[in-house]
Amino acid sequence: MNKHILVIPGDGIGQEVTTWGKKVLELIAKKYNHTFSFDSALMGHVAIEATGNPLPDETLAKAKATDAILFGAIGHIKYDNDPSAKVRPEQGLLKIRKELGLYANLRPIKLFDELLGASSIKPEILKGADILFFRELTGDVYFGEKKRSEDRKTASDLMVYSKYEVERIAHKAYKAAQTRGKKLCSVDKANVLESSRLWRETVQEIAILYPDVQTEHMFIDNAAMQLIKDPKKFDVVLTANLFGDILTDEASQIAGSMGMLASASVGDSVGFYEPIHGSAHDIAGRGIANPLASILSVALLLDISFGLKTEANAVIAAVEKTLKQGFRCKDIADKTTSENMICSTDKMGEIVLGNIL
Ligand code: NAD
Repeated sequence: MNKHILVIPGDGIGQEVTTWGKKVLELIAKKYNHTFSFDSALMGHVAIEATGNPLPDETLAKAKATDAILFGAIGHIKYDNDPSAKVRPEQGLLKIRKELGLYANLRPIKLFDELLGASSIKPEILKGADILFFRELTGDVYFGEKKRSEDRKTASDLMVYSKYEVERIAHKAYKAAQTRGKKLCSVDKANVLESSRLWRETVQEIAILYPDVQTEHMFIDNAAMQLIKDPKKFDVVLTANLFGDILTDEASQIAGSMGMLASASVGDSVGFYEPIHGSAHDIAGRGIANPLASILSVALLLDISFGLKTEANAVIAAVEKTLKQGFRCKDIADKTTSENMICSTDKMGEIVLGNIL
């Protein structure tokens, strides 16, 4: 297979972990006789520094012309502490999602058995949990009108959804549920929010088209609690942009750490693959970031964008074997991990590469 992949490492640990995602793609191409060509592009703080724009036109043009995108993370501490900054790294990410029509963000949450002890949740509650989140990505408060009063003492963000935006992601989520446990939980706040009432009505209409899937509607506050109380009860979770953002960070504890969670953003055109974590200022530049979320994002890329299931499974199996061998980055180590099994980013990457069959 002949494919072109655009690598956008971004900022902070985004750069450190994406190096390994790319190396995995190169090795897969070699072992399975594919030709993958690569290009790279700037986004986020590094792009602002170089061009003044968090998403330079050149990056967007390259993104529109490639077969798949491997992304790292954006963000810099200087913007986190300056909410009034007009040009911000995250604008680049929001714009590329919108421009590429990436409306569905898939976040699989599955705990590798070897990491049962790494989570802050009890192993007996976690074992067997396997959830696929569908987070809507191009609507909600992220894109609605933002206002500040003249005296700057009142602010608002418009939470807005159109019916077609709910329909298109709901269809994707139901189709996925049909291939999994045939259960879908739609999460909203329909007791309070009008946009959630539209969300619920629309999902109820679409549910009729998928009679083999059992539908449940849950309020976000309840879902946040149930996710930790009994994660095994969930199969596919469908939710809006803001609720999905928060719930999936919470759900990262089911997978052991943010450093383990991969995601795929899909929609009208090219697929966009990235770890769910950010640029992690607290550990950036120290060589200790866990690269497994980026490597697992590569597995999603191979499977979803290129239809290469065997190759995707080879990547997942290599991660599993590495964990079975006892290797851990700091974020997924527990009391039982001996010092010599705690890996740097590069060591973890090398071991996974060596385990790819
Ligand atoms: P974060 O995800 O960067 O980090 C949260 C915590 O998880 C930190 O303690 C971090 O050290 C840890 N962590 C994250 N990834 C890890 C990994 N691979 N290995 C080990 N530990 C890991 O979130 P934050 O600290 O809230 O935000 C930092 C910056 O990232 C901010 O500027 C924010 O805007 C940005 N951000 C970007 C994205 C994105 O690019 N998609 C997502 C979230 C946050």
